[in-house]
Amino acid sequence: MSELRREPVLRRWVAISTSPSKGKKETCPFCPGSEGATPPETFVLRETGSRENGPGWWVRVVPNQYPLFRLEGGLGKRAEGMYDMMNNFGAHEVVIETPEHQQTWPEMELGQLERILQAYCQRSLSLRGDNRFRQILITKHHWGPKHHWDPTLEHLLHHPHSHIVAMPFIPARIEDEIRGVLEYQQRKERCIYCDIISQELRAQKRVILETDHFLTFAPYASRYPYETWVIPKSHFPDFAMLSGSQVTDLSQALKAIYTKMQKAFEEAMISMVLHTTPLQEFYREEYHWHIELRARLARPMGFEWGTGFFINYVAPEEAASVLRDIQ
Ligand SMILES: [Zn+2]
Ligand SMILES: [Zn+2]
Ligand SMILES: [Zn+2]
Repeated sequence: MSELRREPVLRRWVAISTSPSKGKKETCPFCPGSEGATPPETFVLRETGSRENGPGWWVRVVPNQYPLFRLEGGLGKRAEGMYDMMNNFGAHEVVIETPEHQQTWPEMELGQLERILQAYCQRSLSLRGDNRFRQILITKHHWGPKHHWDPTLEHLLHHPHSHIVAMPFIPARIEDEIRGVLEYQQRKERCIYCDIISQELRAQKRVILETDHFLTFAPYASRYPYETWVIPKSHFPDFAMLSGSQVTDLSQALKAIYTKMQKAFEEAMISMVLHTTPLQEFYREEYHWHIELRARLARPMGFEWGTGFFINYVAPEEAASVLRDIQ
């Protein structure tokens, strides 16, 4: 079963997604030679002369076999008594980032990271062709070399991959950010993210890394230890409009921060989410796209879970100084 239900008090959509046990797979469906084990590719970068849905690719995007969102059935918005629900309408694709079964971003050549970013952009552009989608989200989980495998995540595949999801609603987190952006814009007629960037560049205390086009820093009120943002230094609302030179520059920034974080926390899982403007009539010129990174360390999170109020035991200035020093 897979459907979206709205929590009636906070009015937030929740995906209820139960699928039959996926079981343990003998061979990796993402390795070259197993292309038949996935749905046909929606985007690929491959060697000239190599055949569609066969080996010879560098980066491959395919629909997820166990999608959180699917295209069949339409929105199907309906009520169940006082509750609102709809079908889990949307698209859920997987970017298979490399033919190598075990290769992390710190180990990849820059050219390979550029291909991954190109795949993100191209799919973001194609998926917005369906005007029922309001938001595209890109996420990735990276496991450090000494991560203790969580048994509840047994069904996840190790082969490096990321997720691209196109959703029929704007997630609460992005809605909240847009509210903050618009409120600041109204008061000051400036972009709040642009102002944060210039203040951080002046102060330097929380800057981890600066490239031609991107700033990597620990936000002033980081919610999580070693929370890190990667943000274009100039104002851009839409990730998918990334230029060629920005792709090259962003691949350098990402490789560097992943290398630093992996060296700092060999046991952590690093989670990445890309926040960009919503689509269609919800497109916001005022929004400033960015990437948020978080090292998930084994640490109970009871207070945050119960209150939405965060306690962070590592000062962002300290986090930035540690990450800055790791080469
Ligand atoms: Zn594999
Ligand atoms: Zn801005
Ligand atoms: Zn954000």
